[in-house]
Amino acid sequence: MAKLFIENLPDLAGKLVSVRVDYNVPLKDGKVEDDRRIQASLPTVRFLQKQGARVVLMSHLGRPKGAVKDELRLAPVAARLGELLGAPIQSATDCVGPDSTAKVSTLKDGDVLLLENVRFHPEEEKNDADFAKTLAHGADYFVNDAFGTAHRAHASTEGITRFVQKSACGYIIRDELKYLGEVLANPERPYVAISGGAKISGKIDLIDSVLPTVDHLLIGGGMTYTFLKAQGHEIGKSLLEEDKVDVAKTTLEHGAGKLELPVDSLVATEIDFGARTVGELSTVTSEQMPADGIGLDIGPATIEHFRKIILNAKTVVWNGPMGVFEIDATSKGTFAIADALVEATKKGATTIVGGGDSAAAVEKAGLADQVSHVSTGGGATLEYLQGKVLPGVAALDEA
Ligand code: AMP
Repeated sequence: MAKLFIENLPDLAGKLVSVRVDYNVPLKDGKVEDDRRIQASLPTVRFLQKQGARVVLMSHLGRPKGAVKDELRLAPVAARLGELLGAPIQSATDCVGPDSTAKVSTLKDGDVLLLENVRFHPEEEKNDADFAKTLAHGADYFVNDAFGTAHRAHASTEGITRFVQKSACGYIIRDELKYLGEVLANPERPYVAISGGAKISGKIDLIDSVLPTVDHLLIGGGMTYTFLKAQGHEIGKSLLEEDKVDVAKTTLEHGAGKLELPVDSLVATEIDFGARTVGELSTVTSEQMPADGIGLDIGPATIEHFRKIILNAKTVVWNGPMGVFEIDATSKGTFAIADALVEATKKGATTIVGGGDSAAAVEKAGLADQVSHVSTGGGATLEYLQGKVLPGVAALDEA
């Protein structure tokens, strides 16, 4: 069912609106190193300002584990947000307590106040009701625009909804629900899912849940080799999850006719993940893996095969890199898939990149605005794609 959207909140002028944003950004030397998450929140913040609401923003930053950590204060975020909005914003030294209460009470219409890191209090992650009530500061409405934490029932994502009149989603969550929810619930076909990353164990729930609905499922990354092992192939010293070989066998049976494994790999005999160096690479077919070989990326024939399937698709969802993309020499497969998604988008397909490393790869390649949607969540995206309920979304009012 559709969730109440920020634009449908009644009479925003003069209303106190509490907004959960995701300002969990990397900091360096006291400054925001990458401000994309702050930029992403601007439509929601600007809309509320324009309507004359009094805006109280709250976020977590890092993992302070319920205690104040000076290096995880949100002051650099407040400074950057002020620059982006074109005027300084106010900030509080805590998310609850006298300073925040005083600052909330003197807000004028259109003002923006950023509360301090909500995870400085252990009650946040415990979803403590008293804390959630205090955190709400008597707000009329709550807006959630932090998709990356929507899979957690915390005070600032779930508990707070009980202490306001109405709870709505902002622009980021609206878009996530549209692409990950509506589009994939009713995909235009052919519908292709691509799954990569290190291990089967991290992705098997996703694979099992999309398998019945997709037309093709393309597998890449480290999990390839447990599947190849399950087919009885030599996999050399490639990543193997011994205890997942049976799971892989079952998935291969269920996926017969849909599931596509790499037909070749880039293989080396040595890799140093820490130093990001790799020995000499050669291309070998999936039937000819040498006993000392480590499969590190999909090979050229696989790239070509996957590309054809992707270019023929009308809906594509991609999660997880095709190889060790942190090292240039073994990043080609991942970037080739990103390019194929861009091309498919130009041909009219709806293309969705599901969070985490594949989103990072698309961003790094400068292609994020050339696919239909890049999801902002990591764990939240995976859980939503698996059809799990996200507490931070479920708690919002229906439209
Ligand atoms: P995940 O968090 O499961 O999406 O895994 C992402 C990680 O998988 C990245 O750090 C990649 O370097 C790693 N990865 C991808 N392909 C391989 C491979 N063939 N062998 C080992 N690690 C891989």
